[in-house]
Amino acid sequence: ANEVKQIVYRPIELEVNKRHLKFPCQLFIDGEFVDAEGGKSIPTVNPANEEVICQVQFGSKNDVNKAVAAAKRAFEDGEWSKISARERGNLLYRLADLMQEHKEELATLESIDSGAVYTLALKTHVGMSIETWRYYAGWCDKIQGTTVPISDARPNKNLTITKKEPIGVCGLITPWNYPLMMLSWKMAACLAAGNTVVIKPAQVSPLTALKFAELAALAGIPPGVINVVPGTGSLTGNAISNHPDVRKLGFTGSTEIGKVIMNSCATSNLKKVSLELGGKSPLVIFSDCDFDKAVRLGMQSVFFNKGENCIAAGRIFVEASIYDKYVKRVVKETKKMKIGDPLDRSVSHGPQNHLAHLQKLLEFVQKGVEDGAKLELGGRRMQRPGYFFEPTVFSNVEDHMYIAIEESFGPIMCISKFQNGDFDGVIKRANASEYGLASGVFTKDLSKAMRFAEKIEAGTVFVNTYNKTDVAAPFGGFKQSGFGKDLGQEALNEYLKTKCVTIEY
Ligand code: NAD
Repeated sequence: ANEVKQIVYRPIELEVNKRHLKFPCQLFIDGEFVDAEGGKSIPTVNPANEEVICQVQFGSKNDVNKAVAAAKRAFEDGEWSKISARERGNLLYRLADLMQEHKEELATLESIDSGAVYTLALKTHVGMSIETWRYYAGWCDKIQGTTVPISDARPNKNLTITKKEPIGVCGLITPWNYPLMMLSWKMAACLAAGNTVVIKPAQVSPLTALKFAELAALAGIPPGVINVVPGTGSLTGNAISNHPDVRKLGFTGSTEIGKVIMNSCATSNLKKVSLELGGKSPLVIFSDCDFDKAVRLGMQSVFFNKGENCIAAGRIFVEASIYDKYVKRVVKETKKMKIGDPLDRSVSHGPQNHLAHLQKLLEFVQKGVEDGAKLELGGRRMQRPGYFFEPTVFSNVEDHMYIAIEESFGPIMCISKFQNGDFDGVIKRANASEYGLASGVFTKDLSKAMRFAEKIEAGTVFVNTYNKTDVAAPFGGFKQSGFGKDLGQEALNEYLKTKCVTIEY
């Protein structure tokens, strides 16, 4: 049990902040790091200084075929198919322990590859990932079916039971905002249920997924159970979602691509699909709130992870009697934010993930100004190397404006006013969106908060808090924010099928 395994690969080695980083940049298929067919690669860039970190192998359709074949073998007759649920749980615990041992390395890698500030990368990106693996490790031997009373035809009796079974090879496609955490949210539930996986991380931030694969191999997860194939969406992702041997697809990303994926899943083999998509979540601030908290968490609801947060409050509605005071305070506090090198522990706000995203934010600001919203603060690219964008505050935002409808996925606060006491009116406005991912309300009136929680069309409701996600609590949206849940017991069902067995005796 104490043998030290060696996982062979062509390493990239870097010194970052006095920390030695060593990580793979090849595909991980059937327990081994291998080059892509034809050796094709794509660069991944550090958004804090615009320098290429390394070239990452880029999976072709054939590479995806190999990965799916390995996952299928592992599922059908590999070691994974033979071990007990409890042993499976022990392997996942071991993986979580190894992630814990390597947490600083993972957080540094996540920070240089995605621009997340190191402190947040350590606590949330990596910390919550580890918690997710532990949480689902505990579920492995607790997945149960039911006994169903059905009518008996005398003299015979029946016993009807349901069995929860893994689905088979699952494809996972994840975004770049929380690379390791999105991988963990999906993959931990998927493996706990007994499936095998082919994952394509986002092409702009693939490094922690590859380091994770190394740790999984070290933990003793058998070959073929986890396969990581980086690449572009249109090629590599598309090959996974269209693959006839992939039986389930778990996707987190934009609504636009979610629709493409759902179509591929339907036409290829009607595979089961769950979609965690975009949002434009409303946060409603009533005048009877704890004002300081509403300022602090209102800002956090937008600026957390530099706005690259799917549940970010994209629309903030403030009651008229405190509106001016609220905008003024938010502007004052936003000016104090420390922006800079994400590896500096005193910095709270790093660069945007990649250049195209930064450019999208600049266009978003321009549209806001053109539509007549008031740009209170920020809105520009910062004059320094890296994809730094000033935290931005818009006030006087009206519901018909582009910036009130579309997701920015960046640090842009869009504040609107609602008339004093107009609960029904603000709920109507909050619900007038194609999205339904998250929502929030600040008020000291519990009845008002509960009425809000009842009426709001969103998968998550925060009352006097925001961004409080937990591994045990189901997470996922309504309407065009998708369907199916990540996290909690519910997410297991996304990766299980129910078989009904009737025995006559
Ligand atoms: P995206 O939809 O562009 O890409 C997501 C993933 O899909 C990437 O890995 C990409 O390579 C892949 N992809 C792209 N085209 C594909 C295709 N044709 N076939 C298969 N795969 C394809 O999204 P993004 O820009 O990476 O992430 C930002 C979006 O993700 C935002 O809209 C955000 O709200 C959403 N998001 C949602 C959640 C959630 O839980 N609801 C969490 C994080 C991010």
